[in-house]
Amino acid sequence: MKALIKEKPQPGIWLGDQPLPAVGPDDVLIKIRKTAICGTDVHIFNWDAWAAKTVPTPLTIGHEYCGEIAELGGNVRHLALGQRVTGEGHIVGGKSRMARAGRYHLDPDTRGVGVNLPGAFAEYLVIPAFNVVPLPDHLSDDIGAILDPLGNAVHTALAFDLVGEDVLITGAGPIGIMAAAVARHIGARHVVLTDVNDYRLALAEQITDLRTVNVAKEDLRDVMAELKMNEGFDIGFEMSGVPSAFDQMVDAMIMGGRIALLGIPAEARPFDWSRIIFKALTLKAIYGREMFETWYKMIAMLESGLAVEPIVTHRFAVDDYEQAFAVMRSGESGKVVLDWAA
Ligand code: NAD
Ligand code: ZN
Repeated sequence: MKALIKEKPQPGIWLGDQPLPAVGPDDVLIKIRKTAICGTDVHIFNWDAWAAKTVPTPLTIGHEYCGEIAELGGNVRHLALGQRVTGEGHIVGGKSRMARAGRYHLDPDTRGVGVNLPGAFAEYLVIPAFNVVPLPDHLSDDIGAILDPLGNAVHTALAFDLVGEDVLITGAGPIGIMAAAVARHIGARHVVLTDVNDYRLALAEQITDLRTVNVAKEDLRDVMAELKMNEGFDIGFEMSGVPSAFDQMVDAMIMGGRIALLGIPAEARPFDWSRIIFKALTLKAIYGREMFETWYKMIAMLESGLAVEPIVTHRFAVDDYEQAFAVMRSGESGKVVLDWAA
């Protein structure tokens, strides 16, 4: 079958041929329809330090997808052939204390589809039936292919009660923009989204009602004054991974404010923790999505008016994957979707 493979430990991704994966008794074979490119795939493409220490080669990459069930393992009863599905890309172990408590997203034995295990950028993918998430008919294939990052946004946005609160989001990548839409949907008062990329801030404005700030050109303090937020933001979502954005967020928070951290900094750096302590801030780190409560809630929100479809800005046939990665790497995109049927 056709697959996008990290063939060797150097920059690049290659379109190649892989054998059809074997389907175990508790597994499901999914015929892939659409996939989306994640920032993680770009790290793997670029072969940065994280990718070099994490990803074995050769490996089929990709973990954002939707498709239809093409084969069921012998023990799988609750799913059907032809059913449209996506899936949770974290494959959990099940032996740890957290997994046995039903908190699967905290299982230290987690392995990632398309990161440690064969991925979804292929004509077929095998995952455990446990990880399969059925797609309701009214969700498009494009939305089905981006539920994984929407799940990151939803898991972060639900970290704290934000009804009536003022929310600062740093980083208008696809996840920051979708988190802004979720915050609006669930009842925040002001939603302010920062970036240094005007393309992405303009895209955010098409998707939801918010105040965008290009922090390279405009002072966040002026925006806070304009919105009459004298004491600061109640809730922060750090979604850039950029240390200066976190610095700015800490400065802009109210006393006792709450921050959810999703963005992954490229490297370690020292931080003056007294700034957190004297503001009595709460920090919560966000990893992945909850299995499967986040999936339930995000599908429910998509059924009750949450609209994020314009976050998909580019679509390519899989044979044009090089162009797709180039668009993604340019920063002038939202989500980029690859069509496996085209
Ligand atoms: P992305 O890289 O597309 O977006 C990050 C954005 O931050 C970019 O638009 C960039 O221009 C912007 N930025 C740069 N400097 C800034 C500054 N000073 N202030 C504000 N914004 C600035 O990433 P994404 O795909 O939307 O993901 C968001 C982050 O979440 C990334 O760091 C990603 O690695 C991380 N992530 C974490 C998890 C997890 O489980 N914790 C899962 C998925 C993604
Ligand atoms: Zn992803």
